[in-house]
Amino acid sequence: MYDYIIVGAGISGLYAAYNLSKHNKSFLLLEKNSSLGGTWKSIKYKDSLFELGPNTIIDSSKDLQLLIEDLELESEVLKCPLKESKRYIFDGTELQELSSNPLSLLFSGLISTGGFLDFLFKFFSLTQSSKVKINDEEFQKGESVRDFAERNFGKEITRKLLETFLKGVWAGDPEKLSADYALKILAQMEKEHGSIFKALLSKFGKSKAKSKAKSIISFKEGLQSLCTAIVNKIAAENIALNSKVNKIELEADKYIVETSSGEETKSFQAKNIIFASKSFEVAELLGAIAPDLSEELNEIYYAPIALFAYSLPKSAFSKDLDGFGYLSAAEEFKTLGSIWASQLFPERNLDDEYVFLSFIGGAKNQEILELSEDCLWNQYIIPEQKRVYGKFLAKPLNDFDFKLLASKKITRAIPQLNIGHAEINSKIKSLLQNKYPNIHLLGNYMEGVAIKDALESVHTLDLETQDTFQEALTTA
Ligand SMILES: Cc1cc2nc3c(=O)[nH]c(=O)nc-3n(C[C@H](O)[C@H](O)[C@H](O)COP(=O)(O)OP(=O)(O)OC[C@H]3O[C@@H](n4cnc5c(N)ncnc54)[C@H](O)[C@@H]3O)c2cc1C
Repeated sequence: MYDYIIVGAGISGLYAAYNLSKHNKSFLLLEKNSSLGGTWKSIKYKDSLFELGPNTIIDSSKDLQLLIEDLELESEVLKCPLKESKRYIFDGTELQELSSNPLSLLFSGLISTGGFLDFLFKFFSLTQSSKVKINDEEFQKGESVRDFAERNFGKEITRKLLETFLKGVWAGDPEKLSADYALKILAQMEKEHGSIFKALLSKFGKSKAKSKAKSIISFKEGLQSLCTAIVNKIAAENIALNSKVNKIELEADKYIVETSSGEETKSFQAKNIIFASKSFEVAELLGAIAPDLSEELNEIYYAPIALFAYSLPKSAFSKDLDGFGYLSAAEEFKTLGSIWASQLFPERNLDDEYVFLSFIGGAKNQEILELSEDCLWNQYIIPEQKRVYGKFLAKPLNDFDFKLLASKKITRAIPQLNIGHAEINSKIKSLLQNKYPNIHLLGNYMEGVAIKDALESVHTLDLETQDTFQEALTTA
């Protein structure tokens, strides 16, 4: 009988296991695949490396900083300040470099005079339309990213800049994504002060500790080395790979967890279950023992994504690719954007090739589900990249210049925290608290989609409180 069984050994499950082992809890981590890390996949290529999954983590996460220190991984960290990591937008005609300064974005040529004036009018308006809408019942359910941003920044800035940026994180539909989650900080500023402009004014002149400039980070051996370092701190008998959880039953005050590995089935018992897999996978396992919770989890939609890693000869380019990559603002494009994988950190540079990772699909391109990877590669990735790099090229790109290194289609990749998510979230939290206190849900589908959010979700286990409670019980 374990204190906890964890289902899923992606970063959420691994970080949970790490915390449980620090608090001397007995646990078993079950993973259906033969490898750890879930969505993460670091692949060596020549003297470089690319990721067929997440590429970088923002170092603003406290959990990540502590984890790196605790695992003594400091010397393995690759870091690039966000300000130095140049980003581009493909506007349908050419690549435009984006400055990290929001004000200079307005003068970048991407925005027309009309769009700029609209921004000034909306942003500096002291009679925010939100004030009118805040009492409106519909508005209480949540507002879409598009409505929120157009109210605050005008139509052109919303469509050309903000929505393009959001594609890179959410691959979502701006008419459905909830501003409360996808634009969390801005939405909070508006709620607290009545408008974003007023929120900024309220901070103006106030002395504050200088905040540390944010960086993107990875590790010399790729993101997956964080998972490996965690695993090295966990006793081998606490982890079972190739163990797919098929069924969970509740018997008196314990859970019976059945796993399969090929023909073999096994059964384990635990007082608590931690689910660290995608919400629809959890929903399936909970169908019999917590149907109401399962129903709420099934409401969360995931957008599809296909990833293509490939290289192109440096000799085809007239200009050095020196940045993070580009995002596409072109309506007709299926490619959401491309990361310049070999250029993210100097340690990954190759002499004669650039390595790229292109993302295709998202909530607005559901049709990619019907198309084979071969078809996506030939019909979209190659022709669209040929258009993107126009003025950066020394000679037109040929099909044979593209060397495909790896690809993956993820049918349900990114959870979409759409309008109405706050309601789903609060029902889930209430069910967990009042009806299923021994079920715990971790991952990136409750508060945010990034790795930082997945790490933070582990705080909901509240092990400190449980330890204090146990201590009090023992003393009594
Ligand atoms: C293409 C892509 C790119 C991304 N890029 C970034 C990025 O650059 N930066 C960033 O911050 N975030 C990024 N994200 C988001 C990030 O990947 C997630 O926040 C994070 O990896 C979620 O980890 P997880 O452990 O919660 O889930 P997962 O990684 O999905 O892990 C879940 C695990 O559960 C296992 N499992 C499922 N069902 C069972 C079962 N029945 N029995 C046993 N095991 C089971 C799975 O095999 C898997 O190993 C990206 C996501 C995608 C899809």
